[in-house]
Order: sequence, then C-alpha cells, then structure tokens
Amino acid sequence: MAKWMKEITLGAALAALVLVVLWGVDLNLILLPLAALTLGALLLTSRGGLTARFSPARLGVGDSSSVPAVTFAQIGGQEIAKRELLEALTFLKESPKTRQLGIRPLKGVLLVGPPGTGKTLMAKAAANYTASVFLAASGSQFVQMYAGVGASRVRQLFQQARSAAEREKKRSAIIFIDEIDVLGPKRGKHASHLEYDQTLNELLTQMDGADSAHDIQVLVVAATNRADLLDPALLRPGRFDRIVQVDLPDKAGRLHILEIHAANKPLAEDVSLEQIASETQGFSGAHLENLLNEAAICALRGGRQVIEQADLREAVEKVMLGEKSNRLLRKEERERVAYHEVGHAVVSELVKPGSVATITVVPRSRALGYIRQAQEEQYLYTQDQLLRGIQVCVAGAVMEELVLGQRSTGAANDIEQAVQLAKRIVFSGLSPLGIVSSDLPSAVLHDAVVKIIRAQEDAVREMLSERLEEVREIAARLLDEESMSGHAFRELLQGRRAS
Ligand code: ATP
Repeated sequence: MAKWMKEITLGAALAALVLVVLWGVDLNLILLPLAALTLGALLLTSRGGLTARFSPARLGVGDSSSVPAVTFAQIGGQEIAKRELLEALTFLKESPKTRQLGIRPLKGVLLVGPPGTGKTLMAKAAANYTASVFLAASGSQFVQMYAGVGASRVRQLFQQARSAAEREKKRSAIIFIDEIDVLGPKRGKHASHLEYDQTLNELLTQMDGADSAHDIQVLVVAATNRADLLDPALLRPGRFDRIVQVDLPDKAGRLHILEIHAANKPLAEDVSLEQIASETQGFSGAHLENLLNEAAICALRGGRQVIEQADLREAVEKVMLGEKSNRLLRKEERERVAYHEVGHAVVSELVKPGSVATITVVPRSRALGYIRQAQEEQYLYTQDQLLRGIQVCVAGAVMEELVLGQRSTGAANDIEQAVQLAKRIVFSGLSPLGIVSSDLPSAVLHDAVVKIIRAQEDAVREMLSERLEEVREIAARLLDEESMSGHAFRELLQGRRAS
C-alpha cells in the first residue's frame, strides 16, 4: 500500500471515530472489531502471515544452501570423531550400493561435545565430503510462543533442503541443527510443552519421512553439549542412531589445530607451537584459533613483522584470564601478591619439576597475579598426586604467613580448590575414612577435609621455610620484571640452590 493511501485511510478512520463518539455510540462496539482488523492487516502486510515469517534469511540458511568449502583436513585433532563420522557418511555417499544391500539409510548423526570443539566444522565438512547442500539452523529458532509455529518451521526447513538440492542438482542435503537440546528436550518436561512436543514430533516425522523413497536424501546432523537432556525418542534407532563424541582436544590435537590456524601467519624462528600446545590444556579449537589471532594482534601492536613466542604466551594469558586490568595496587599489596605467587611456584616446581609455565604480578580480569602450570592430560589421580595438588593450592597463603606474618583474602579461591581436591580424596575412598557413601554426614566430611588440608599446610610450611632467602630474591626480581617465564624462574631457583 502506498504511503499516501495509508495516511488517507488512517485520517478517515480517525474522523469516523470522532463522529461516532459525537453521535453517542458505545465505543466497545467500534474499537474491538477495529483492533482485530488492524492486527490482521498488520500480519498480512508485514510478511504474509505467521508461517511465512520463517524465511531462509531469518533462518540464516539463505547463503549456506550450497556445498560448503570446509574439508576434514581443516579440522585438527578429533581423529576418532572424524573417523566415526566418515564411516557414517559412507552410507550417504554410496547410497545406491547400500540400498542394494537393503541397508536402512542413516537419518541422523548427533555430535556431542563442549562449545567450540568443531561440531559445526564437522557438519560442514560432512556436506563437502558427500557433495550435499548444507543448511544450518539453531534449536532456539524453532521454539516460539505460538503452538504450531516451530513444527511448521521444521517442515519448511526440510522442504528448503530438498528444493536447494534439486536446484543445485545434488543427490543429498545435510541439515545442521545446533543446540538440538533446546528443540528436543524430554517431552512433557517443559512449561510450554505443547509447542515443544509439536516441534519435536514434526522433526521426528520429517526424519522418518526422509527415507529412500525420496530422490533427495536428507541427513540431519545435530549438535549438543548435553545429550542427557534429549528426549529418548530422538535417540531411538533409525533417528539419531550415530552419536559422535567431539571432546576437547588433547596435546597432539591442540598442536594440530594450532598448526592449521598458524598456516596463514608468519611465525618467528623461536616459536614452538608444541610448547604452546602443552601449556593450553582445556582449550577448545575455538580458543586456539582465538589465541593465534590475539598473538598476531599483539605482534602488530608491537610493530613486529612476525609473531614471536612471547606474543603467543601473552595471547595464552589473554584467552585464559582476559585482558590486563588497569587496577593500581598499593606497594604492600603488590609485594604480597608477589610472595603469594612465588610461594605457589616454588611448591609447584618442588612437587612436579618443570611444571611452572609463567609467573606474573600483572593483574588480569579478577586475578591480581597468577602462576600458570604446564599440564599433561591426566584422567586418573593417585592419593599422592591429589595431596601435591593441595600443597600447590595452599602454598600462596602459607608463604604470605611466613614472610608477612598474616594471610589475606587473596587465598580464598585457592582454599576453595584445595577443599574440592580434599573432597575428591574422601569420596574416592583414599582418605583414612576408607570407603564412604555419598551421604556422609557433613560434620564428618568437614573434619576429614580440614585434617587433610592442615597436614598439607604443615608440609608446605616446612618446604618453604627452608627456602625463604631464595623466595625473597625471586619475589624482588618478579616485582621488578612483572612477569617471568617458567624457564627463567627455574634458572633462578636452581642457580640459587647450586651457589
Ligand atoms: P558451539 O558448540 O559453540 O556451536 P562448535 O563445536 O560448533 O561450537 P565450531 O563452530 O565448529 O565449534 O568452531 C568454532 C571455530 O573454532 C571454528 O570456526 C574454527 O576456527 C575453530 N575450531 C574449533 N574446533 C576446531 C578444530 N578441531 N580444528 C580447527 N579449528 C577448530
């Protein structure tokens, strides 16, 4: 409708309303139908009604309905996940052969794992590998206030996938649904369960309908961080019957991912990606990609043409702990932080030589200073290893007490960690209590935890009081230089010992 026509209509409607009021007609008789008419007109003029609102552009699939360029070679680590997915995809790739053998086509693959581990990349690579068109959506896009909208969106998505494949003359389509747990939680568990049930039922119907009778085969690849929240109907054979675990990468995986993302970046000769991989335990692929990007920004800020190891170290800290904060500490506070961190570092080095990666008194985010430890992946811990972990945690507070006479609130997080480790000892049956049940009375648990931590504090007090001179020297150097690499710290500690 032209703008001038809208204005004339609106003006006429207002004039009519005023006249009607002047004649003394009941306003309710006029306003209710008028409101209904306006709402209807709005819905029609906006996007052609409720269902048509779910356009490809809104779904975010408009541009992504062709075959993506991502290949499995661009995904680092995840060897097992890649192998499992590739195996599942042979069914799609060689569908005439599998059909001949009467093998039921695969309808869904569920990728389960923490954020940023490459689930979206895997789905794209799967589309590339099978020459399928690729459409992406997120579970939250289907769930609306109005019952029935989600279900119609699911229908549209499958329809779109088939038409895109036909248009591009492909035999198959891959629909990627991120956050499937939002769309497919256990039925009847959610407050607005009617809408959830309808949406989920429609997805199941569409997946069941996506069988060999159609020319275009549609495979749904869904991703979630919480497979335990999913409705069991989704996991029934014939639906998402392939569940692929996509975990955080181990050291070799991290190195592979770093190599992939460093390929387009100039690295200095001193760079050891292997060292960075060993210092980044717990990082996802997305963290590692971000790390290399931050390192490049750091080199740019420093006016360097190539990325140096120091840039990568700085980036590790930024990704791990956030940007440097401009909090100004008082001199005594800075000194206390330095002793606290050197305490942690000395004990870490004594209980596990070579474990300190960095010590710093530069505040970042909420930390006033910190040490970073290089850790290998470890899945099982002995009692001794857990006790040594507690020793490193309490070393900061004990150091403050030894040098400055009193502890401070700065150790609160360390104590929390020590308590968690002590509880792990107790519930693994490694404490003097032996095997305990999970409903151990809280007073007994408290006593056991305190006993374990106190004993480690005593051991640490002994270790550190023998080394107070070294500690003072290293702390003074740290205050001067602000940050120290693990290597420099070890040289200082060992040099002092040797002399
Ligand atoms: P989310 O669960 O948050 O959706 P995701 O598991 O789908 O995350 P992706 O979106 O695939 O993670 O990854 C985000 C980015 O992180 C990728 O674009 C890529 O740059 C990087 N990345 C993640 N994992 C890997 C990997 N295994 N190899 C290479 N790069 C990776």
